[in-house]
Amino acid sequence: MTVDLLITNATIVNADSTIEGHIAVRDGRIAAIYGAGTSPGLLPDAARSLDAGGRTVIPGGVDSHVHVEQMTGAYKSLDTYETASVAALWGGTTTIMDFGIPADSSETPLEAAENKMRLARVSRCDVALHGAVIDWDDTVPAQLERLAEHGIRSVKMYTTNRGSTMANGDTIVKVMREMARLDGLTYIHAEHDSIIVDCLAQQGLKQDAVEQHGTRGAVPLEHLHHTRPELAEATSVAEVLAMAEYTGSAVYFVHQTIPEAVALVQNARSRGLEAYSETCPHYLTLDEDVYASEFPEKYACCPPIRSREAVEALLERVRAGEVHTISSDHSCYNLEQKRSRSDDVRFMPHGLPGIETRMPVAFTTLVIEQGMPVQQFVELFATGPARINRLTGKGIIAPGYDADLVIFDPDERRVVDGRALHMGTDFSPFDGMELAGWPSTVVMGGRVVLHEDRFSDPGPTGRFLQCRDANNKAALDGKAL
Ligand SMILES: [Zn+2]
Repeated sequence: MTVDLLITNATIVNADSTIEGHIAVRDGRIAAIYGAGTSPGLLPDAARSLDAGGRTVIPGGVDSHVHVEQMTGAYKSLDTYETASVAALWGGTTTIMDFGIPADSSETPLEAAENKMRLARVSRCDVALHGAVIDWDDTVPAQLERLAEHGIRSVKMYTTNRGSTMANGDTIVKVMREMARLDGLTYIHAEHDSIIVDCLAQQGLKQDAVEQHGTRGAVPLEHLHHTRPELAEATSVAEVLAMAEYTGSAVYFVHQTIPEAVALVQNARSRGLEAYSETCPHYLTLDEDVYASEFPEKYACCPPIRSREAVEALLERVRAGEVHTISSDHSCYNLEQKRSRSDDVRFMPHGLPGIETRMPVAFTTLVIEQGMPVQQFVELFATGPARINRLTGKGIIAPGYDADLVIFDPDERRVVDGRALHMGTDFSPFDGMELAGWPSTVVMGGRVVLHEDRFSDPGPTGRFLQCRDANNKAALDGKAL
């Protein structure tokens, strides 16, 4: 047998096993794995050989929550599928999942998703999509069916952001019923909007804020974390779980930031609900002191960064295995965009760039600092998100799976400099931090795209991945974008 690529002397870490061995790759997939004791004469001939030198090899990352070429109000995020996918690969992520969110009421969920499918054709890594619904009307069931035919089997709704992306309770219940019928998954951004709207108004009237910033009603950035309280998240999660139980829909909560929210999901699971908790690197690393720092605009996101007490309790839940995925919630705005309205949090673009730093931030926080086994990290970073979203062939190093591989030296540390990263923005919320867990080699679909700090652009080779149904069926197998 001759193979395209042979990676020798690897410490191969999957979510459920760690072995020493060699990985043979052919036609973009893993052809075979040989144990460390295999005599060299029995290894296949290879067009290219890489010696991992005992370093760790994990499955390519699956980031199930990114926003690429996204509009937030008047602001368009600054990356394209080319820049976002290149940055993802630099960061050890080989599959990204974006959202087709209608820009306004004139765009349908189907149009929004099909637009993202077109934009994604230049992607360097593999792409899958979630749909999104804002307003219910009689055409929504047929649109959701059409999305499922495209392999888009999950739909996101927001319980907040009134007047833009928010879906009301009627819409959420009706869409959940359809998702249960279509064997799909409901993604939810859960924050109780009435509490937040009132909280924003109260903060805007506070005297110190008015004196400092002059405008009655404006909410300066330094107060962001006071405007979206933890209670608003927990209340909304509880309400949405009741809707999921009522309709029978599987539900996935994006970016949970507090232990109470994770506990509610655990409780629902113990009653038999299919419910999932996601969190993001920034909620595990930063605390609300960032809003009193020199550059609070680097941390403007929803939900906001929480108290140290909440962060520590959330870390505890992650270590205990109660969180299912760690996603980036990547949103690529630059400091100029962030600063254009930092006088009022209601009008500035929210969201943090993070598609490239997900692996080092999560690895350093969880494995190095919290002592999490690397296998458990792999589950959160790749295997879990692939399985939950039914991305067949992803998230596991085994024969037949896609050859998406990340080689790294767990002891190698680098200091984050957002300007030197590849995300199309000029900062990182992790600027100045010294992190471990940076990929040294990344293989995407059998191609070596990153090796010894050199990126070899594979061109628009990313494929559009179809999420499967419960019988592992999809209309078409991963076709070229
Ligand atoms: Zn998001």
